[in-house]
Amino acid sequence: MPETLENVRKFAADVAQCMKCGFCSYYCPVYREEKDEKALARGKNQLIRFLLKGEQELTEGFYGAIDNCLLCKTCVQYCPAKTRIDHAVIAARGDYAAERGLPLSKSLVFRHVLSRRWLFGWALRVASWFQFLLPRGEGKFRHLPQFLTALGAGRAVPEIAPKFLRDSLPERNPAVGERRYRVGLFSGCATEYMFPEVGRRIVDILTGLGCEVVFSRAQACCGAPVFFSGDLETGRNLARQNLEAFEGCDYIVTGCATCGSGLADYPVYLSESPEEKARFEAFAARVRDFNAFVIDVLAAEPGRFQLEPRFRGKTVTWHDPCHLTRHQGVAAQPRKILNALEGLRFVEMPDADRCCGLGGSYSITHHDTSKKIADHKVAGFEASGADAVVTACPGCIIQLRDALSRHGNGAEVVHIGELFRVKRSALDGPGDGPAPTADP
Ligand code: SF4
Ligand code: SF4
Repeated sequence: MPETLENVRKFAADVAQCMKCGFCSYYCPVYREEKDEKALARGKNQLIRFLLKGEQELTEGFYGAIDNCLLCKTCVQYCPAKTRIDHAVIAARGDYAAERGLPLSKSLVFRHVLSRRWLFGWALRVASWFQFLLPRGEGKFRHLPQFLTALGAGRAVPEIAPKFLRDSLPERNPAVGERRYRVGLFSGCATEYMFPEVGRRIVDILTGLGCEVVFSRAQACCGAPVFFSGDLETGRNLARQNLEAFEGCDYIVTGCATCGSGLADYPVYLSESPEEKARFEAFAARVRDFNAFVIDVLAAEPGRFQLEPRFRGKTVTWHDPCHLTRHQGVAAQPRKILNALEGLRFVEMPDADRCCGLGGSYSITHHDTSKKIADHKVAGFEASGADAVVTACPGCIIQLRDALSRHGNGAEVVHIGELFRVKRSALDGPGDGPAPTADP
């Protein structure tokens, strides 16, 4: 076994589990579009086995195969042997990055921009001055012009917010009534810079349910796009920053499914010593998705929720983000909230847990396949008859909005936190709830 494969060696047992049955071929969204064995968990496993036996080099072709994966875990869900291709793929990307380096664009963004919050914010602020050059789509979305083919020409991208979350939300947000928990809000980059209203709504709901919410300015990117791509070193630095930022919080709550799974994965991929693994595990044990926190930890009575007036009489459906349902096991909780909202009709769409095809930078590096995968979501949404899609991942919102827009469907895609607020007294009738934090 080559000495350099320090990451993938840790998951050799996972790779060995594959019994080559091919069940994953029925479910893998990439394989279903491309019909290429290397796109399949079975094919990737085989390549990684060859690598571990010294029969495969860390070539560009090898990287191409392991890079062609959404990390959606659909194969893991249906695999009779529970083969963890996600573990093996991330670790193999880590070994490739350590030996050969990542593509220059990823390396520059991860090491020099994402790891410096101030620089990232500054770069987006500068970009926001020029976004008026992009043609405007519906709502707060614009379309990338054709010359930006490498980034997915024509795709809908959200506008950069005129005021970032940190410019419009205090660091400390007191609980309404008696304090039950001290909660750290992990905003994630998309919420911080593109969807700050989602962050403010989540804070309103959590404070309304008796939580003091701390929005630490010291928090960094969760690191998921970084270490899922193989840059484990930068991912480790980001993880260490986040551990410090959330010291003293009972829970760390996020409204971003990808951030939640990234934070929970710190002990799996990033620890350099048993002591650090224990610290990462203790941190991960405090991380909760917003829906799971509201239902499981706060045990909020559905009668305490009040539908936002603009959704009254609407029919909505739910999209399960892969990073929520398969990575964190959260599926029932958002449905419980949606079913409880008086004045709203909730319907399931076919294949609600089918991947939307975003996969972080996958939607840029594999744009055609990503679009084809998203087209199935549009078909599912249209079959549901709903007026809007609700979900809990800013990345999925971006992808679904783009897919619907390509199909000429102007339906809204919203975060579940935008749908309701907490009644602050038994006298609150429909539409009489407290004013939410104003959008600046
Ligand atoms: S990854 Fe699982 S489902 Fe796919 S071939 Fe291997 S054992 Fe079968
Ligand atoms: S994680 Fe998703 S994209 Fe990757 S091999 Fe499994 S099913 Fe296919």
